Amino acid sequence: IMLSLDWRLTILALVILPLFILPARRVGRILREIVRKQMDLNAQMNALMSETLNVSGALLVKLFGRQRDEIKRFGERADRVANIGVRQAMVGRWFFMLLGLASALGTAIVWWVGGILVLQGAFTIGTIVAFAAYLTQLYMPISALVNARVDFTTSMVSFERVFEMLDLPVEITDRSHPIVLTRARGAIRFENVSFSYIETTNDRRPTTDGNNGDGQQSAIGSRSTRRYALRNVSFEIQPGQLAALVGPSGAGKTTITYLIPRLYDPTEGRVLIDGYDVREVSLDSLTRQIGMVTQETYLFHDTIRANLLYAKLDATQDEIERAARAANIHDLIAKLPQGYDTIVGERGYRLSGGEKQRVAIARVILKDPRILILDEATSHLDSESEALIQAALEPLMRGRTSVVIAHRLSTILAADVILVLDEGRVVEQGTHAELLAREGLYARLYHTQFSEAVRQMEAQ
Ligand code: ATP
Repeated sequence: IMLSLDWRLTILALVILPLFILPARRVGRILREIVRKQMDLNAQMNALMSETLNVSGALLVKLFGRQRDEIKRFGERADRVANIGVRQAMVGRWFFMLLGLASALGTAIVWWVGGILVLQGAFTIGTIVAFAAYLTQLYMPISALVNARVDFTTSMVSFERVFEMLDLPVEITDRSHPIVLTRARGAIRFENVSFSYIETTNDRRPTTDGNNGDGQQSAIGSRSTRRYALRNVSFEIQPGQLAALVGPSGAGKTTITYLIPRLYDPTEGRVLIDGYDVREVSLDSLTRQIGMVTQETYLFHDTIRANLLYAKLDATQDEIERAARAANIHDLIAKLPQGYDTIVGERGYRLSGGEKQRVAIARVILKDPRILILDEATSHLDSESEALIQAALEPLMRGRTSVVIAHRLSTILAADVILVLDEGRVVEQGTHAELLAREGLYARLYHTQFSEAVRQMEAQ
């Protein structure tokens, strides 16, 4: 229509178009950088908040009297977030201003030249008024399109961040036709298992590629440090046996317990359950066979019931109570004003260490796994809750294969097999009597770690 009104004015109106497009390119690039930085800063801010403002973080800050430093750290990060927000808004405003300017300039030129043409009698005032009205109809959608381009460029930053995460390789996955373990017998076998966590400058992830197993830095060309947490570990645990893992701190006890449910894959060697390599077994069915009670009991910020149901979604109230009774925690829960509907608080902070561990034991009882992995708590338990936990654990271990990182004398005395670890190797294995007779590391550990308990036992 504009062309039919006057072609000269139409060309003039279109000459302005590059003024819309050129700033959009540049602003798109600048905003993309700003938005990427803004997202990074927001992520840092969120990380700081979830680290220091959770119950454990806040407790640590108070105990070390670091409130002022934390306020300063928070203030600095918040300032950076605020500044980048202001910068982003300013660039956005400048961009809108440029778009407005381009459109105003175009309109002014059209009125000016159009006015001259009207004075020369080329067309009427009506034509120029109609032309100006169409001009707005042209510039408005062009501004919106240019703006959409900038929006799109900045939104791409979010996509990039999401895909950076999605593109990370998944290290532990099911193979194409995995074996489904329905009800395992519970035989565990480690065959020449070596395992190393790879340490890089800013991330600690394990590797699953082969290596010579000598524990030295190898993998020519790799800049990461390879240190073996387990070296050539072989042992066998029969169904229903209780195996105790003992050894000095850092010997690799926890690492062994991680390889059974396939939290990591061995760097070399095989882990077998009932004769099947765990890498061949479907992860789903593998996890169903294994129950784990760690030292650091994790509970969700929800009711005790919801935390217990996590192990078995369809458990009845009766089953829940039976599990809680077996774990010696039912009476305590029953005494709480809201009973099983009591909210445990973030990470379960409203419960004591021993109570939390008994809830975790009840959770595993509900799951009823064939293999139980247990990291016995070392400190934070008084003798009464320790006795309660011990009483809860004994029936739990009965009839299942149990692998226990043992800190209690009673556990190692009851163990069918004791695996003694040192610097990632199984240096001794056997029963308590056999190992004591060898007068090796086990005998030394036994006399140093358990001397007090042994004295008490002998006194009784
Ligand atoms: P503790 O009795 O103190 O808990 P542990 O015998 O359970 O010790 P592990 O936790 O298995 O020892 O650790 C074995 C070795 O592996 C240690 O040297 C430890 O520093 C290292 N390690 C443990 N976890 C990681 C990880 N995620 N990344 C890198 N190295 C690790």
